Amino acid sequence: MFDNLSDRLQGIFSGLRGKGRLTEDDINSAMREVRMAMLEADVNFKVVKQFVARTKERCLDAEVLDSLSPTQNVIKIVTDELTELLGRTDSKLVLSSRIPNVIMLVGLQGSGKTTAAAKLAYRLKQEGHSPLLAACDVYRPAAADQLETLGNEIGVRVFRGDGKDPVAIAKGGVQDAIDNLRDVVIVDTAGRLHVDEQMMEEAQAIKSAVKPDQILMVVDAMTGQDVVNVAAAFSERVDFDGVIMSKMDGDARGGGALSIREVTGKPIKFISAGEKPDSLEEFHPDRMARRILG
Ligand code: GDP
Repeated sequence: MFDNLSDRLQGIFSGLRGKGRLTEDDINSAMREVRMAMLEADVNFKVVKQFVARTKERCLDAEVLDSLSPTQNVIKIVTDELTELLGRTDSKLVLSSRIPNVIMLVGLQGSGKTTAAAKLAYRLKQEGHSPLLAACDVYRPAAADQLETLGNEIGVRVFRGDGKDPVAIAKGGVQDAIDNLRDVVIVDTAGRLHVDEQMMEEAQAIKSAVKPDQILMVVDAMTGQDVVNVAAAFSERVDFDGVIMSKMDGDARGGGALSIREVTGKPIKFISAGEKPDSLEEFHPDRMARRILG
């Protein structure tokens, strides 16, 4: 993830380092290259435009250009703006005092929802909670089996209900959690290959039935800037509180991850980099920005 972008940006800045003093022209041409590198990484063009405009304005400041190590300052500014783009501060998952807490996962089919549901359950279990997984994806063949297998692997109860009615399964899952003293219910919902009306209606119905404390949208990091349209549709119809970026271990160019915060205003809470239950990490914008710039 981000390998190409990282190489490109590092190349641009090592070019600047060789110059010592920097002129306005140097900044303008470096920013043109930054713009190209981000577009090639499939970052949304509006996001790129705003990012480059902000960064360039800060870099062209006389104090930066006349400073003793202008390139170092330029790199600091780019790191800072990248951190901003990724959300600036950490956005931890905070459970409310309601028991059981309900966390609903939404997203397209294949985005990694079922896997993320189990990973989140595993994480919460490690933190001393006793989660329950509700298998509300009744359309994708074997989704409930997959969740059950993952649940068994990590020792987390899975509620499947009648396997037919997602709203009833979500409600049944909450009741089952109460009956079995579980304090968090993670609701795995169905996705489709593309945003469609039925998926949105179903997500809305589950939302009104169980009133989740939070809704997290699972986004496949391979999605690139198409994520903008998908996120906008979910944002408008069911709304969500944060994002889990899955498949960060892949060789995606990273455009989706770099665009989503700016276009939705919603923070990335977790990134998932692997198929194993323990591969869900809290997301730290500053660390990611520093990693990209090497
Ligand atoms: P769902 O349809 O949204 O529930 O998606 P799944 O959870 O079934 O995930 C789709 C595929 O992506 C499965 O083969 C998962 O093993 C795989 N997957 C999910 N998350 C990750 C991840 O972070 N890294 C990798 N490499 N594969 C993942």
